[in-house]
Amino acid sequence: MSRTMGDPHISVRGLAHSYGSNGGATAALDSVDLHVERGEFVSVVGPSGGGKTTLLRCIGGLIEPGAGRIEVGGRPAARRSGEIGYVFQDPSLLPWRTVSGNVALPLEIGGGRADPARVAETLDAVGLSGFGGHYPHQLSGGMAQRTAFARALAMDPDVLLMDEPLGALDEITRADMSLYLLSLWERSGSTVVMVTHSVPEAVMTSDRVVVMSSRPGRIVGAVDIPLQRPRERSLEDTPEFLACSSRVRSLLLAGSNNGAPDH
Ligand code: ADP
Ligand code: MG
Repeated sequence: MSRTMGDPHISVRGLAHSYGSNGGATAALDSVDLHVERGEFVSVVGPSGGGKTTLLRCIGGLIEPGAGRIEVGGRPAARRSGEIGYVFQDPSLLPWRTVSGNVALPLEIGGGRADPARVAETLDAVGLSGFGGHYPHQLSGGMAQRTAFARALAMDPDVLLMDEPLGALDEITRADMSLYLLSLWERSGSTVVMVTHSVPEAVMTSDRVVVMSSRPGRIVGAVDIPLQRPRERSLEDTPEFLACSSRVRSLLLAGSNNGAPDH
């Protein structure tokens, strides 16, 4: 169900990846094809251990896939890693750097100096102005996660990859943060691939939800989300929203039942 029309911003073809060596190899991904249009917001959902993080890391050029071809903007993903914003599964902040220092980090890589105005502007965008001098241990979970967003957004990336970015937050903070995240994305126009284990979060945020199977991860199918934008919390009660969620859930069910476990 992947889109093949036009000129996709992210193109993944025949991706397979295993960890470990022959005897104890773990097949994490198999035959994954995924095309993401420029400016599209795509979520990836699937069972835990099904290779979602592996897929995201391959797209981000953080690991070299065992097989297949990944292009971002028409060039191999590995050469693009400096231009891709990546939000890890936990905030992964450096404890000895302040909030500003953490946000500046990707801007300093390569020997550059971060523009303090750019850092301040990004902190402002995530609602953390005034917290630049704080250290990670002084932040709540939500603030640490906002810092991680700011660090990814500071580079003004064309492509933003997010691995369960709201996973560590409680339900209420999480619902607020997902809409907040969406408003940041609406302003930036970047292409997003977000891994999440929450079906409502995937439906609420995305143009398309891609469903992966259990390990080795394959794409079971995708559901287009034709809900109006800007998205609002009240959409959750509409028949359209519920219909999309139920299509995603049935694909999840199909993906976790198809085929025997591999040892
Ligand atoms: P998900 O993000 O969907 O939970 P992952 O991509 O993290 O899945 O992992 C897919 C499979 O690969 C899992 O079985 C996991 O244990 C294995 N795996 C992930 N990372 C490594 C690694 N660095 N070394 C060995 N096995 C790994
Ligand atoms: Mg993961």
